[in-house]
Amino acid sequence: MSANTRLLVVLGPSLRSRAGRTTAIVLALAAPTLGAQRATAAEGAISAPVTAMRYEVTADKAALAARRLSVTTSFDVVDGGVVLLSLPAWTPGAYEITNFAKWVSGFRATQDGAALRWDKLDYDTWRIRPARAGRVSVSFEYAADTLDNAMSWTRPDFALFNGTNLFMYPEGRSTEFASTVVIRTDAGFLVATGLTSSGAARTYKASNYHDLVDNPVFVGRFDLDSASIAGKTVRYATYPAGSVAKEARATAWEQLKRVIPVEVNVFGEAPWDSYTVMQIADSSYQGFSGLEHASSHVDIVTTQGLGSEFLPSLYAHEIFHSWNVKRLRPADLVPYRYDRPQPTTWLWMSEGITDYYADLAEMRGGVVDEAGFFALTAAKIGEIATTIPFALEDASLNTWIHPRDGTEYSYYPKGSLAGLMLDIVIRDASENRRSLDTVMRELYETTYKKSRGFTHDDFWGAVSHAAGGQPMDEFERKYIDGRDPYPWQSMLKTAGMRLVPDSTPRIGVTTGADPSGAVRVVDVDAGATAARAGVKVGDEMVSVGEIPVSDADFGAKFRLRYAGRPSGSPLPIVVKRGAQTITLRGSLAYATVAPRIAEDPAASAKAIRIRNGILRGTLDK
Ligand SMILES: [Zn+2]
Repeated sequence: MSANTRLLVVLGPSLRSRAGRTTAIVLALAAPTLGAQRATAAEGAISAPVTAMRYEVTADKAALAARRLSVTTSFDVVDGGVVLLSLPAWTPGAYEITNFAKWVSGFRATQDGAALRWDKLDYDTWRIRPARAGRVSVSFEYAADTLDNAMSWTRPDFALFNGTNLFMYPEGRSTEFASTVVIRTDAGFLVATGLTSSGAARTYKASNYHDLVDNPVFVGRFDLDSASIAGKTVRYATYPAGSVAKEARATAWEQLKRVIPVEVNVFGEAPWDSYTVMQIADSSYQGFSGLEHASSHVDIVTTQGLGSEFLPSLYAHEIFHSWNVKRLRPADLVPYRYDRPQPTTWLWMSEGITDYYADLAEMRGGVVDEAGFFALTAAKIGEIATTIPFALEDASLNTWIHPRDGTEYSYYPKGSLAGLMLDIVIRDASENRRSLDTVMRELYETTYKKSRGFTHDDFWGAVSHAAGGQPMDEFERKYIDGRDPYPWQSMLKTAGMRLVPDSTPRIGVTTGADPSGAVRVVDVDAGATAARAGVKVGDEMVSVGEIPVSDADFGAKFRLRYAGRPSGSPLPIVVKRGAQTITLRGSLAYATVAPRIAEDPAASAKAIRIRNGILRGTLDK
């Protein structure tokens, strides 16, 4: 979400986690590939062969009203051999075990109209006993009531579902099987998905199981339009209808048109024929979350977050994933295994460096200016300054167990900063002739294009190569596998930047304008002024220090009145919460860990070239 994935968790200076989810499986990380950790009878079991797989999903008004999707899977068998069909335990990109079989009910199996015997082999594997060769059909109901971009959710006029939730695969057999998907719904409803159309209405095809389940589906009433960007078709699907309309929609399209070509430039190609941005806005959801796929992504955002400046960053992050992690992927994640955790030490690269490129895409595409890029970077430095020392490799591994020590999603901002440092190191060593872009493109060509994942030696070899042969062992030992603080003073100086202390009083909220124009709290930074005063997500901000937040000059007036006042000075904060208007008693606080980044006035000519190279995506000849 950019925030898990997936989720992109970084919002302004604070760490944003998605709505809570508990994980019931504790794994031994030391031996991630051993099947023994999956204490199930299906280990090593092999299904009788099945062919001509066809999945039918019924998502009509009756199904949506019941919040259930009906799923029928049919296939051919060659004899009466025992068929084992399994559902995944997780959705790639959402690194946690969920066990989608939990939402299944009403399982039944038939052949030629007669019921077949079946039972469970383990909690996500069904054992079906066909009577003879021929067509077999199995059906179940799936409770689609969880608002999560790895899962399935319905409203009376809408459904989101993920193939990992609904589409069974034959246990122990190759995932390289072709299938057909048919969506049954009402005439007035739309379908949006990255799945390839088979030509018939609402009928799609996939050439293998990975592609099948990597394409979430929207069904129902939502807004859908498209544009040509970088020579390819990009679609924008937003639910509920009207949630992103008029100027807001024009703005979103403008942002997509700015960031996508920049990302294409890094790799030299758009790897998809079409790309679908799928977004749900719902007031019950806290914060923002995105989940990446090879030719689409699903964002879930709180209604109050629509129009937030964080949204283009989320889009840029998730779309960059269509190269980095969906195609260019750690070898640990190739191929995806759906029945068990797949821990890797590389999420700092797959998520953190993706987040660095989200910032770069916004900067290079002109969604933010130089000051905006510096602010995004400084916020990440400030965020890591408040986190316990941790190694990026460890945090990457740990995500599966949702550690409680504050590092759960810290590989996003810290991995992003590691990306910036690598960019600076490479540009410095190569006289700005090569960059992190060079590494990303080389890895894409030499691993993904060769149908394999990247290894430790691939990654560090590419970095060292770009840096003119400079060994990277010490860098890796200190900053990736180690817990050393990052050397910002020297590193930023090399890139013509510097850290300057920030003396601005901080309130510590992120806000967005809701459709009525009210300034609504989307996020509250833990420990900051607003949080200590009792401001809550969802509050409408009225005034801070008696200055109306609706005042166009709020920031300037606030600084004029409060900058320089001692910490702890009274700071009244007025919010509307429901029908009530509440005055909260805040006290002035200064950010001590969130410095600013500025251009270094004493920068050398080379440092200026490096800085401009990073900001503009250019190299020297
Ligand atoms: Zn991500």
